[in-house]
Amino acid sequence: MNILVINCGSSSLKFQLIDSESEKLIAKGLCERIAIEGSRLVYTPAGGEKQITEAPMRDHKEAVSLVLKALTDEKTGVVKSLDEIGAVGHRLVHGGEHFSKATLITEEVKKAIQDCCELAPLHNPANLIGIEACEALMPGTPMVGVFDTAFHQTMPEEAYMYAIPYRYYQDYKIRRYGFHGTSHAYVSKRAAAVLGQPVESLKTIVCHLGNGASVSAVKYGKCIDTSMGLTPLEGLVMGTRSGDIDPAIIEFIAHKEGKSIDEIMNILNKESGVYGLSNGFSSDFRDLEDAYLEGNEDAARALKAFSQRVIKYIGAYVAEMDGADAICFTAGLGENSPIIRDMVCASLSYLGITLDEEANHKRGEEIIISRPGSGTKVLVIPTNEELAIARETAEIVKS
Ligand code: AMP
Repeated sequence: MNILVINCGSSSLKFQLIDSESEKLIAKGLCERIAIEGSRLVYTPAGGEKQITEAPMRDHKEAVSLVLKALTDEKTGVVKSLDEIGAVGHRLVHGGEHFSKATLITEEVKKAIQDCCELAPLHNPANLIGIEACEALMPGTPMVGVFDTAFHQTMPEEAYMYAIPYRYYQDYKIRRYGFHGTSHAYVSKRAAAVLGQPVESLKTIVCHLGNGASVSAVKYGKCIDTSMGLTPLEGLVMGTRSGDIDPAIIEFIAHKEGKSIDEIMNILNKESGVYGLSNGFSSDFRDLEDAYLEGNEDAARALKAFSQRVIKYIGAYVAEMDGADAICFTAGLGENSPIIRDMVCASLSYLGITLDEEANHKRGEEIIISRPGSGTKVLVIPTNEELAIARETAEIVKS
């Protein structure tokens, strides 16, 4: 069955068409600058040339319409008609406590996603618009929602509760939710496959290190803790997000600089992380690594603090799980940066880890990068959230 995977942001829409039987990518692309001047569709059929079409897209429905037109185009399309698309899998950011797994989208489900808008005001409304645009243009095609938060719903209460008055949980559902769940689930399963052991027998720590970054503790196939919280701001140092800070810093800056809460939240989300730590040098780890290797102190400060937080979370999760069989690196930085993996693993000799330097410098494959005999195994597992969404969608539609 061909599954169209849609990841809808506020002004963008990424898509992939995947054959769920062969798990092969058929086409992919994205719509950029939706409802903004200069919108364009980038479309690449598998094995074909990338095509860029400048076209006005007043809203997400027009964007979806252009995507469907590209997929069915006589010359460059990959399917003859929309009937060849069996289902649509939507990447959804926040499922709150409503969703612990992927689900067929119904009117009731849409209402529940709407209920979670308050928890993800930038993402959930855009996700809903994407669903409705697809429903309008592909009536009768089953739609499935795959939530970023779902995998983390197995966390025990002591891991997801904040030590603030309990009524805030009761009244507003303030708690840790965690994000990147589709990636954490996919990577922990793939790591088990690479190690040739059932995921239910392993204690795994997944480090999803990209522009947004999070770590999770996956014990016997279930998430028991993760570093992102009510929002994706908590946890590791990220590209421009601060990660964990003393909450009193917010009040301190507000008083010192007469700033509003919104202004400070903007600083913590957009001007902090390695960007802030490097004194505005860059939020891109490639730039930072190049500068670090040339002796730039701003870049060194940022990368060292970034790695230190990863080391700290790994230590915490080893303690929580009473050990770890595997540590996995994934996402843009986790998959592509031997430097960061080296910096992190240099502090993990207490787990019996030594890196195989040759393996650590390989790219684009699922690989064990610790030396044979290492107590805890270290792996690089390229994440594939779209494939994970296509798999979950196919499973639900078939059942
Ligand atoms: P993601 O959010 O998963 O797309 O990851 C984006 C981050 O990965 C950016 O900060 C990139 O700089 C970083 N990244 C991608 N490729 C590399 C690389 N070869 N070396 C270091 N960082 C990289």
